[in-house]
Amino acid sequence: MGIALVGIGKIARDQHIPAIHGSGSWSLAAAVSRNASVEDIDTYTDFHQMLAQRPDIRAVSLTMPPVPRFEYAMAALQSGRHVMLEKPPGATVSECQVLLETAREKTWHSRMAEMVPAAKIWLRGKKIKHLDIIWKEDVRRWHPNQDWIWQAGGLGVFDPGINALSIMTEILADPVHVTQAVLEIPENKDCPIAAELRFAHPHGAHVHAVFDWRQSGEQIWTIDIETDGGHLTLFDGGARMVVDGQAFASGDTPLHGEYPRLYAKFAELVSDAQSELDLSPLQHVADAFLIGRRVITDPHYES
Ligand code: NAP
Repeated sequence: MGIALVGIGKIARDQHIPAIHGSGSWSLAAAVSRNASVEDIDTYTDFHQMLAQRPDIRAVSLTMPPVPRFEYAMAALQSGRHVMLEKPPGATVSECQVLLETAREKTWHSRMAEMVPAAKIWLRGKKIKHLDIIWKEDVRRWHPNQDWIWQAGGLGVFDPGINALSIMTEILADPVHVTQAVLEIPENKDCPIAAELRFAHPHGAHVHAVFDWRQSGEQIWTIDIETDGGHLTLFDGGARMVVDGQAFASGDTPLHGEYPRLYAKFAELVSDAQSELDLSPLQHVADAFLIGRRVITDPHYES
């Protein structure tokens, strides 16, 4: 099926284009970009023009930042296209609920990390004592010159942090909710550079998350879980898992493999006329902004 990729930035080039080119289900039929082009692919600068001129393109993948994405998603859904949304699915919970009523297909990319399904199966029937998320990366390395990520609606450190929350909500059998949050916000930015969250768990497990964008050296995307039946750690955003000292690895780097699986899942949903939408990761972020104590920290500069 032909698909149009809209918003040709870092994630579009790093993951979406290779995943579509490598897919047996999708072919890249058009790109929509205000500034860029994709080699050998018809490129439109105007999304509405593309929708009007290319009725053959039945699906779009929206890879621009969350704030502008809603209008694109609604236009696509209203024109009867299948829609894949980058994460987070929108800038607010309410606008996502509007999309939910109209949407047909949706999932979270980090849940497609190699070891996430195995972790979910291993946890089944076990009593969780502790779950600790540690998501520490260098914002200058992973998000260079992305002004939108620091502006209201850009989520700040929750932009990567929501990936951890999407894994946590996938592998936990019971729902949790945020009870405490501290948000560290640089004095020259709208969004947090670091955050710490505590969650209530229905059976009393200690659930805790630390997100920090000031990490130099080793980059850490880990979820550590202690249960009554052993110890499990997911490393590298779910690409590697260690259970009671035994390692399981896909050999993938973080993100590798997730996008091909996402596009395969999207094809399956389209073919089955099914939808998939879970707002719980975004709900946790919204709750952290609601309940969180703000601490103003040093200004952040690109270099
Ligand atoms: P990016 O490099 O800044 O690229 C986003 C692209 O979106 C821009 O190049 C631009 O494309 C378009 N865009 C920007 N502002 C826009 C606006 N106001 N209206 C319409 N289009 C606009 O950002 P990114 O890293 O690719 O991230 C995009 C989304 O993917 C975010 O939601 C992010 O959370 C998610 N994501 C990123 C990563 C990652 O590793 N970077 C991983 C997973 C998910 P044109 O110039 O072509 O119009």
